Amino acid sequence: MTKILITEFINQSSLENLNKKFDVKYDEKLYENEKQLTTMIKDYEGLIVRNKTQVNLDILKNALKLKFIGRLGVGLDNIDTEYCKNKKIHVQPATGMNADSVAEYVVSSSMSLIKKIPMFHNGTIKGEWPRTTIESIEINQKNLGIIGFGIIGKKVAEYSSKNGLKILAYDPYVKEINDKEIDAKLSSLKEIYEKSDIISIHLPLTDETKNMVNEFSFSQMKNKPIIINTSRGGIINESDLIEAYHKNIISGFALDVFENEPIESKFYHKIKPGMNCILTPHISGVTTESNIRVSDFIVKKITDFFN
Ligand code: NAD
Repeated sequence: MTKILITEFINQSSLENLNKKFDVKYDEKLYENEKQLTTMIKDYEGLIVRNKTQVNLDILKNALKLKFIGRLGVGLDNIDTEYCKNKKIHVQPATGMNADSVAEYVVSSSMSLIKKIPMFHNGTIKGEWPRTTIESIEINQKNLGIIGFGIIGKKVAEYSSKNGLKILAYDPYVKEINDKEIDAKLSSLKEIYEKSDIISIHLPLTDETKNMVNEFSFSQMKNKPIIINTSRGGIINESDLIEAYHKNIISGFALDVFENEPIESKFYHKIKPGMNCILTPHISGVTTESNIRVSDFIVKKITDFFN
């Protein structure tokens, strides 16, 4: 029987389906023990991970039988895809399966931040009743700049245009937008920075995108935008972001992803109650529904592959 190793959490009923067809070893904490994983991997033909398992050269060199890696999510920056390509190991992301969850997160966090909900909440629970001291604005007819116009970027555009936002999109790999399907305008990065009231990042982490949103980018922003990053930490320079907030260049931010995860005290100590921000532990793509979709999708793909 083909042996499959799973190193992070998977939906229970998807696991039960997998168990019927394969010899499965499931240890949702195995990603924490790289040494053990490096030893174990030599016996397995299939591997299923999320984003915490670092499928690096040390592990892959020992993976002599490995033919398939299923990624319960999108973003392959934790997998040495170049090595896998050379060794003909198929790498399968769950493309699009959590896009709705991420898009809902972007809509809800952008709404909350433009309405200054974190600040109102903080003032209210301190007994300050900040009814006239904090000003908020409407979202209707404001500009949303989307950087990275792939599956999630497009979904965010679709959801947000229904809420009255005007969409600007930057993606050098997208040459045109079918405006019958999505109401968005392709724009330069400069235009996005200059015109947007909200900027949402939907890029993969690559050598090109690392540190892409930095001090220089913030210096071009004119409308004190809200910044939202659900893609990968490291794409936005975190120190430059905090500085831009304190200099009143941006008016708030939502971060679901961080340069170091879990976040380190040197970063979260800079976050104070009363700031217009929302920080979450890399959950924008993880909901009950998306967990089922993502897990079922990878189970189907691995089953088809070995059949
Ligand atoms: P996708 O591949 O469909 O879209 C990425 C887009 O980025 C592509 O259109 C690509 O052309 C564009 N791009 C690449 N390099 C670029 C550059 N230098 N400048 C501008 N655009 C560039 O991926 P997706 O499904 O939309 O997901 C986007 C990212 O979101 C993933 O790579 C993943 O890291 C992240 N993600 C996070 C979560 C979460 O829970 N926080 C969940 C899902 C996805």
